[in-house]
Amino acid sequence: MSLEQFNNICIIWASLGVTTFILLQFVTAPYGRHIKKGWGPELPNKLGWVLMELPSFAIILYFYLNFSQSSYAQFLNILWLFHYFNRTFIFPLRIRTKGKKMPLTIVLSAIFFNLINAGLNGYFLSHFEQYSSLDFENWMFYLGLTIFVLGFISNQISDSILINLRKPDEVGYKIPNGFLFKYISCPNLLSEIIQWSGFAIMAWNLPATTFLIWTIANLLPRALNHHKWYRDHFKEYPINRKAIIPKIW
Ligand code: NDP
Repeated sequence: MSLEQFNNICIIWASLGVTTFILLQFVTAPYGRHIKKGWGPELPNKLGWVLMELPSFAIILYFYLNFSQSSYAQFLNILWLFHYFNRTFIFPLRIRTKGKKMPLTIVLSAIFFNLINAGLNGYFLSHFEQYSSLDFENWMFYLGLTIFVLGFISNQISDSILINLRKPDEVGYKIPNGFLFKYISCPNLLSEIIQWSGFAIMAWNLPATTFLIWTIANLLPRALNHHKWYRDHFKEYPINRKAIIPKIW
């Protein structure tokens, strides 16, 4: 495949991401608090998370192990693997979702999303990249890495606060407080967007940007839905708290 053909695939895939963003203004992804009947067969929630995220980890690992890459491309792969090791194997063990289910439709669509995104990023980093070790000295590397690390830490703190709202056997919902929850309903989702913005700055290529577009397309509507859900379910929900951008949105 030529670089031009590859770039065209990325542009088509990014356009589908934008289309999905528009669709998600009308359809709420039915998992977690938004799960409802009518979306076909269901799987145990934790198994669903492992199956959904595994392709993203496995595909990048495949490219990392089987192709020669510059040290800069290898470093990008390691950041990706670090994130997805946590999301695939650690996060599902931590969540307190006893007895909860997830529609197979959601699992299959997330597998498809992860196959394409990881496939495009892995393919680029093993076939088209032209990084050199000098890129480790570029200001964009330091900026992107700082944003990536801050996003990861903030995502971990926010997810931990949410997970610990429940005692091990509880399944209900409570109002989260502390950290960035003082300002917004979904700091975990904002942090994930920040993290992949950092990655896109470091990588500075089309597939990483395309993945960022897809991440925003999924998480921005989800944050708006969560925020509305909190307001509908808790009369005492803090009135000044926004959905995802402090003081604005
Ligand atoms: P949520 O905020 O919906 O849930 C996170 C966990 O906390 C779930 O186990 C949830 O339980 C629990 N929880 C959330 N709010 C409460 C509450 N008020 N009271 C009690 N428990 C609560 O996040 P998602 O499930 O959507 O996403 C999980 C992680 O995956 C996030 O870090 C997100 O950024 C990331 N993600 C990334 C995507 C991407 O495109 N890169 C796509 C989707 C997720 P329950 O499941 O029962 O609601």
